[in-house]
Amino acid sequence: MRRKLVAGNWKMHGLKADLPQVAAIAEAAAAHPGVDVTLCLPFTLIEAGAGVAGAMPVGAQDLHENDRGAHTGCISGPMLVEAGASVVIVGHSERRGDQHETSHDAWAKAAAGRRNGLGVILCCGETEAERDAGRAERIVQSQIEKSLPDGASGEWLTLAYEPRWAIGTGKTPTLEDIAAIHAIARAKLRQMVGDAADGIRILYGGSVTGANAAAILGTENVDGALVGGASLTAEKFVPIIAAAARAG
Ligand code: PEP
Repeated sequence: MRRKLVAGNWKMHGLKADLPQVAAIAEAAAAHPGVDVTLCLPFTLIEAGAGVAGAMPVGAQDLHENDRGAHTGCISGPMLVEAGASVVIVGHSERRGDQHETSHDAWAKAAAGRRNGLGVILCCGETEAERDAGRAERIVQSQIEKSLPDGASGEWLTLAYEPRWAIGTGKTPTLEDIAAIHAIARAKLRQMVGDAADGIRILYGGSVTGANAAAILGTENVDGALVGGASLTAEKFVPIIAAAARAG
């Protein structure tokens, strides 16, 4: 039985003035011990965020594939760990889009996260054009094939299916479409890592809100949610945590 995980992605939002939101979300997480909750913060808030998050792990949204070196502006796994991160997102569609990152980059970054003892949330998902062309399933399979790190196991790896066209748009796939992709992702994991696939959580991400969380989290093979906009305040995020607790 996989525990539900609700992960927030604050993207390029959050200043120290927002730390009370982190604390309030951590309080709600403690009140729902049946659900795992984490917040992936901007680099500059990780240390302070960890300081007010109590037992709730906080994380980052990216890292460099190397642990050190001449890489201006980048951040490494050891730096994240020192700041207090325990989780990192890799392969997010905004990095694939804005920074032209590939599945191979996501693979190398996932390995770096693992090497440094971080939990890794590995994202995949098709564009709208790919979905319209009937290629969503193949794209997700191919992204998993190219980015799944060696030795993947649910102890440290989580997969997140995030259709790019659903991120920040208010649009979501039908529950049937979510179930279909999650089933395909699960089958691909099984093909690649055998029984270890059963322990790997597959999150859905893309315009999850308090209003649609119960239905999405109740869908087969959906083991939680990766949440952007609705994770920025406790008011919006706590109902999603509560929905995950009810979905069990
Ligand atoms: C995300 O950034 O991973 C995301 C799912 O964003 P949103 O919830 O805002 O669509």
